[in-house]
Amino acid sequence: MVKICCIGAGYVGGPTMAVIALKCPDIEVVVVDIAEPRINAWNSDHLPIYEPGLDEVVKECRGRNLFFSTDVEKHVCEADIVFVSVNTPTKTQGLGAGKAADLTYWESAARMIADVSKSDKIVVEKSTVPVKTAEAIERILTHNNKGINFNILSNPEFLAEGTAIKDLFNPDRVLIGGRETPEGLKAIEALKDVYAHWVPVDRILCTNLWSAELSKLAANAFLAQRISSVNAMSALCEATGADVSQVSHAIGTDSRIGPKFLGASVGFGGSCFQKDILNLVYICECNGLPEVANYWKQVVKVNDYQKNRFVNRVVSSMFNTVSTKKIAILGFAFKADTGDTRETPAIDVCKGLLGDKARLSIYDPQVPESQITRDLSMKKYDWDHPAHLQPYSPTCIKEVQVVSDAYQAVKDAHGICILTEWDEFKNLDYQKVYDNMQKPAFIFDGRNVVDVKKLREIGFIVYSIGKPLDS
Ligand code: NAD
Repeated sequence: MVKICCIGAGYVGGPTMAVIALKCPDIEVVVVDIAEPRINAWNSDHLPIYEPGLDEVVKECRGRNLFFSTDVEKHVCEADIVFVSVNTPTKTQGLGAGKAADLTYWESAARMIADVSKSDKIVVEKSTVPVKTAEAIERILTHNNKGINFNILSNPEFLAEGTAIKDLFNPDRVLIGGRETPEGLKAIEALKDVYAHWVPVDRILCTNLWSAELSKLAANAFLAQRISSVNAMSALCEATGADVSQVSHAIGTDSRIGPKFLGASVGFGGSCFQKDILNLVYICECNGLPEVANYWKQVVKVNDYQKNRFVNRVVSSMFNTVSTKKIAILGFAFKADTGDTRETPAIDVCKGLLGDKARLSIYDPQVPESQITRDLSMKKYDWDHPAHLQPYSPTCIKEVQVVSDAYQAVKDAHGICILTEWDEFKNLDYQKVYDNMQKPAFIFDGRNVVDVKKLREIGFIVYSIGKPLDS
C-alpha cells in the first residue's frame, strides 16, 4: 500500500489529504502537524476549520485510511510520498521584510525529512513557494549523503477557501512540475497516478519545476489583479455616476474577458493574494526587473486604497465623525463560507473606524470572539515601508463588542457595514433592522449584496461600492 504523509494540517493540508484519502482507498494518508490542538481538533467532531462538505469527507475516511497525528517523524519516515503544506507567510524582519516569503517552516520541515528518512521519497511542494525553492530544498535534502534518493515535485494547490471540497473534487487542473530526468519523470508519473483516481488525465498538467512554482504565484497575481481592476473602476464609477455592476456586466460579456471575478468589493483578503503578490514583487526585484515589480505592487496598493476609501466614505457620510457612534460590523471573515480571517479587509476597516473613535458591535456566523479580538489587537505591518515594521494603530479594543446575532449587532446602531457576503445578510428583515437603529440609519455595503432600492424605500441611507449615491 502506498503511504502518503502530509506535513501541515491547515486549510490546504487538511482538506486536500481528506479528499485524496476519500478518492484513493488503496492509499494510506497521514496528516501530521506540530500544533497539537489542531491535530486534536482534526480527530474530534469539531474540525479546526469550517469548510462546506469537509465534515462528511473526514467522517467517511478517518480511521479507515486517513489519520491525523503529531508523530511527525515516524510518519514521514514511513511515507513513500511526503507533501509539505506548511505556512509560508510574508517575512516581517530582516532581508526582504514586508515582501519576501518566510521559508523558515519549509526549511525546518525539509531538514527533518532529510534527518529521519531511511528510504527513497518523493517530496511534494504543496505550499506556495518562491520560484526556485525546489533547488534550495534539494540541497537541504541531500546534504547528509545517506544514499537516499529524494525527488522533488511542485504541486501547487489552487483550491479556494469556502469551496475547497468542491474545487478538490472537480479541479480545473492539477499541476505537477518535476525535473526532466528519468527519475523526475518517474516521480511525476507516481503523483499523477494518485490524482488519476478521480481527475481526468487531460486535466493533469505536467511542467518543469520552475513553471509549476511560478504558475501558482502568477495565478494568484492575475486573480487579485482582476479584483483590483474592478475596484479601481468602482472609484471612477462613484465619481461619474456609472454603476460598477452594469460596467462589469458589459465588459464581462466579452468572451475574451469573461464574467467571473468582476464583483466590486471593499477589497480582497485571505492569507494568499497579498502575500503571493508581494513575494512576486520581491522575486522581480531580485531578478533586476523593477518595472515588472512596480506593475504587480500596484495591485496591492489599489487594494489598500479601496479599504481606506471605504472607511473614509463611512466617516464622511456620517457627518464627518463616527466618534462614540455605534457601528455594526456584519461579517468578519475574508469571504463567505469560511471562518478564516487572515488579512481580512474587516481588520483594516474596523481599525480605521476605531481610529476615528467609533464603538463597534461585530457579528460573524463563523468567527469566534477570541479570534476577532486577537486580530484587532495584533500589530499591523506596513508592507510598503519595511523600515516601519511596527504597530500602525493602537486599537481601542474596549470599544469592541462581539455578539452572536445580527439583530443584536444592529440594535441602536447609527450605521451598518457589511464586510462579508454571508447569505444571511442578504435575507435579514431590514424593516426590523431599521426600526431598531438610530436615525438617520446608514448602511455601507462592502460586498454589494443588499437590495439598494428596497432599503432606500424603507428609509436607509445606502452606500454600495461603485454605485451612484442617489440611484
Ligand atoms: P495553515 O497555516 O493553515 O497551515 C500550516 C500548518 O503547518 C500549520 O498547522 C502549522 O502548525 C504547520 N506546520 C508548520 N511548520 C511545521 C512543521 N515543521 N512540521 C509540522 N507542521 C508544521 O496554512 P494553509 O492556509 O494551509 O497554507 C499552507 C500553504 O498553502 C501556504 O504556502 C499557502 O500559501 C498555500 N495555499 C493556501 C491556500 C488557502 O486557501 N489557504 C490555497 C492554496 C495554497
